[in-house]
Amino acid sequence: MTTVEAAENLIHQHTISLGNELVDLDQCTGRILAESITADRDFPPFDRVTMDGIAIRYQHLEQGGTSFRVTGVQAAGSAPLRIEQPDEAIEIMTGAVLPRGADTIIPYEQLIISGDQQKTATLSTSTVKGKNIHRKGSDRKKGTEILKPGAVLDAPEIGVAATVGKSVLTVLKPPSVAIISTGDELVPVEEIPLPHQIRSSNALTLSSSLNEWHIDADRFHILDDLTGTTNKLAELLENYQILIISGGVSKGKFDFVPQALEHLQVKKHFHRIKQRPGKPFWFGSHHSGTLVFAFPGNPVSSFMCFSRYMKPWLNRIFGLPSPAVIAKLAGDISFAPDLTYFAQVKISMEQETLFAYPVEGHGSGDLANLVDADAFMELPSGKQHFLQGESYPVYGYRRSVLSNLS
Ligand code: AMP
Ligand code: MG
Repeated sequence: MTTVEAAENLIHQHTISLGNELVDLDQCTGRILAESITADRDFPPFDRVTMDGIAIRYQHLEQGGTSFRVTGVQAAGSAPLRIEQPDEAIEIMTGAVLPRGADTIIPYEQLIISGDQQKTATLSTSTVKGKNIHRKGSDRKKGTEILKPGAVLDAPEIGVAATVGKSVLTVLKPPSVAIISTGDELVPVEEIPLPHQIRSSNALTLSSSLNEWHIDADRFHILDDLTGTTNKLAELLENYQILIISGGVSKGKFDFVPQALEHLQVKKHFHRIKQRPGKPFWFGSHHSGTLVFAFPGNPVSSFMCFSRYMKPWLNRIFGLPSPAVIAKLAGDISFAPDLTYFAQVKISMEQETLFAYPVEGHGSGDLANLVDADAFMELPSGKQHFLQGESYPVYGYRRSVLSNLS
């Protein structure tokens, strides 16, 4: 049996290559940029007025003037007007180009404006030369790289891409993934199971988990039959970069997955990990480059294996970090077998300390318990009692609870 660390290392020794694809900007949120984005113009592209008010030449104030003749109005989006004489002012709006000959903006709040035909603007407080102008190129110069390949495209990055005129971006293309559930006892979600049947849930849990990387997995189901399993896996190995199998990898009479994979010459890197849940996990690679993650069928087991092993691996192939998260046990846990125990815990941040409250379920078939918890806490083998106050790594599975939980 493989240890947790050895299994993790073996998985991380394998990779798949991600291609690129073009995606409309409004669909790019959360995607990983695969090109460099540079400023197509200066940021801002002109001396931009930042207040509604008047544009003036400061020289007039230096020479003792306090009032200006308003000789024009310039809105945002208009070509710049010109100030000819020092005592002229142009009414100006936020976002407009600084008029030619002007060097200072005085906001309406600092002005008294009088007159109907010929307006006069008089300063009510003193001002400083150059005020309220966002200078051309002061944020970024034309040609500067603003986003590098590998950037995660969150809302600010989408805004930057929009401003430089990129309506389509080159982003990493998610791998092709097939999720294969196995088992004669399983019926599709939309069917009413007979008393001895259950609905297949793992494939949906796993495909939902993969949405985080924008992976749109195809789902298949195979019955517990060696020939059927072998034939279907043969086909999928040729057509997908990653196969995620649930069930059929234990020691049961009808667990045909390892045999079928062996028959198809998928190289086994490990089978069985010294852990609970998830002991029967099988991992291998095919000469086509396809990787096979075969998780045990119990819903908590397959989800734990995904959260602990596959999630950090996916982050790595996408160039994303998987920060280690350590939490403090908020209650005692005892576990006698000499296995690494992944306890289900609820996470809570209290006075800047991350606490893990044990949420004991009824074993690896108890998928409802996952709803009450937020994470798996990795408790090492070789120890039986884990006490309140001790700290251990946690592997979270919720976006809503500390999104940085790896
Ligand atoms: P197995 O690993 O195939 O022996 O399955 C172990 C347990 O997990 C059995 O109780 C199965 O019914 C259950 N199981 C297997 N696959 C799924 C699935 N796709 N959805 C829900 N439960 C499953
Ligand atoms: Mg089965």
